[in-house]
Amino acid sequence: MGESFNAEARRRGERNDMGEQPSCYTHAQPRAKKEHKCCECHGMIPPGETYHRISGVWDGTAETFKRCSVCHEIAEEIDKRIEREYGRSALIEDGVSLGNLVDFVTAKETDLELLRRYVNNAFSRGAVPRGWVIEKAKLETANNLLTDGQSG
Ligand SMILES: [Zn+2]
Repeated sequence: MGESFNAEARRRGERNDMGEQPSCYTHAQPRAKKEHKCCECHGMIPPGETYHRISGVWDGTAETFKRCSVCHEIAEEIDKRIEREYGRSALIEDGVSLGNLVDFVTAKETDLELLRRYVNNAFSRGAVPRGWVIEKAKLETANNLLTDGQSG
């Protein structure tokens, strides 16, 4: 599944020469030999844990992103929803971009479940999400409780 998306991203990148599309895109799932930091939740990836290492050349600059497995799962879940709603081609332009997961989990289209998973995972890895992200998770929890109370 990931492979076909990568292949499509590469093809589109070559065809359209879009600035946003990376060349030399690779996606590996190595086991951490030393501690790493997740580019999405900024939490710790401890030695021994399998993580996602995504490298590419964006606008002539080589970059490597490391994602913890939980953030990667959340990103894939959001990508699936985007694909369901807008079609596969939308994934290339509107899918979760690397390092920007927080913008997607806090989007109004994303349900609270994924936002809370993101926040809890960040805390469990020793990171503290920015205040407004935590606030949003709390506020929406309160709203949901109110709604549940009224409907039940
Ligand atoms: Zn993470």
